[in-house]
Amino acid sequence: MKTEEFREHAHSVSNWMADYLATIESRPVRARTHPGEILAALPRAAPEEGEAMTEILADFDRVIMPGITHWQHPRFFAYFPANSSPPSVLAEMLTAAVAAQGMLWETSPAINELETRMMEWLRDLLGLPATFRGCIQDSGSSSNLAALMAARERATAGRACREGLAGHAPLAVYTSAEAHSSIEKAAKLAGIGGAMVRKIATDSDQAMRPDLLRAAIASDRAAGIVPCAIVSCIGATGLGSVDPLAAIGQIAARESIYLHVDAAWAGAAMLLPEQRHHLIGIDHVDSFAFNPHKWLFTNFDCSVLWLRDPEALAHALSVNPAYLLSPEGAAMPEYRDWGVPLARRFRSLKLWFVMRSYGADRLRQMIQQHIDWTNRLAEMIRATPDFEIVAGPRFALLAFRFRPGGLDDAQVDVATEHLLQQINADGRTYLTRTLLDGRPVIRFSIGQTNTEWHHVQEGWEAVCDLARRQRNDSGAALAEQGQGDRS
Ligand code: PLP
Repeated sequence: MKTEEFREHAHSVSNWMADYLATIESRPVRARTHPGEILAALPRAAPEEGEAMTEILADFDRVIMPGITHWQHPRFFAYFPANSSPPSVLAEMLTAAVAAQGMLWETSPAINELETRMMEWLRDLLGLPATFRGCIQDSGSSSNLAALMAARERATAGRACREGLAGHAPLAVYTSAEAHSSIEKAAKLAGIGGAMVRKIATDSDQAMRPDLLRAAIASDRAAGIVPCAIVSCIGATGLGSVDPLAAIGQIAARESIYLHVDAAWAGAAMLLPEQRHHLIGIDHVDSFAFNPHKWLFTNFDCSVLWLRDPEALAHALSVNPAYLLSPEGAAMPEYRDWGVPLARRFRSLKLWFVMRSYGADRLRQMIQQHIDWTNRLAEMIRATPDFEIVAGPRFALLAFRFRPGGLDDAQVDVATEHLLQQINADGRTYLTRTLLDGRPVIRFSIGQTNTEWHHVQEGWEAVCDLARRQRNDSGAALAEQGQGDRS
């Protein structure tokens, strides 16, 4: 493609982007295609001859866009947000154009050094210890894996990376029953074993019970199992619960066990000084993971991991073939040794654009607003008959159940599941479920960049409207059944 042709298409793509974001609200939030529909619209083989970009772009609209769920829709309240923002998108455009690869300091010093500074900016904005140093990982799962690798090295006195785990006493990882699946996956990948993850039961706030943690550690030690790591959550995925870091930190310190914090989503809330009470106990923490790509207006992918002693991890993971030797790099941290990939994307650019463009104050305001709106939504739900809040609000998440009068628990569960299906088929908003004590509940998670209070209200009105229809339909079905019984 010639430069002028590229310029023309780049202009039309940027116009498309601006139009998309300006009109996103007119689209249903969730993709409405059926399984296999997009696949069937795609040719079975790659073209032999190159095709015109105008045709490719037209097919992007025609074939691909119907299969997109609009995560940047202001009425997207599913999962956790993966919010983005115009400054972040601009940075991603530049990253794509520059297409530099930061595997070593010398392959792009700016990638390495901007990342170093951004990790310091973020660390200080979150109020984390000044001794923490970190780098950007692609995902929260990778951050958690790198943390468990560091823990494993400590627990085996550096033996695991060198010789493997054969012949070593089994290792165990302790986390809450509410912890994200990536902890168990990381234990599998690190050779610790999924079955060696102790999912400690939680209290009525879905937070890890320190007494049960202590008991699990004692029982493992008695059986010759080596405690390797404790993973404490701030904002667990299902219901946003927070483990008691102060108590867990004391246990980790007393038992000399590596302590990692997974704050993938709620880490963003630590920008607010009034939320920092969740960090009491941080003095005993060895590493801390957080995903700006969830709730900090930064495009996926961008997860950050800080460690108290990154050199220990780097030393364990370091492999230095001749083609990677770089004398200048010795003066700077080589982040390839702080995680899995060698090749590294220029992810710090979008953090730089976001933090500079909004400024810390505006970032705090936006996160505070999401939290405030979640509290206001909770009041609205409490005032709506036939609904009950079952968890939260925690940060910007709550969970509720549809409980029309006269139903028993099993019927409530069916009604709640049915309502969720109706909500997601309807398209005005998008919500997802989890289980609380084995029973389905609907989560409402606020955090998209362009969400305003009226979007939250509209989302809730859609829920109420569909609940009303469901009640009318089931009333009619009962009446019909009654008639049938009499005839
Ligand atoms: N930890 C928590 C608490 C999460 O909620 C998630 C994802 O939702 C992860 C880790 C994994 O993050 P990622 O999807 O970036 O791998």
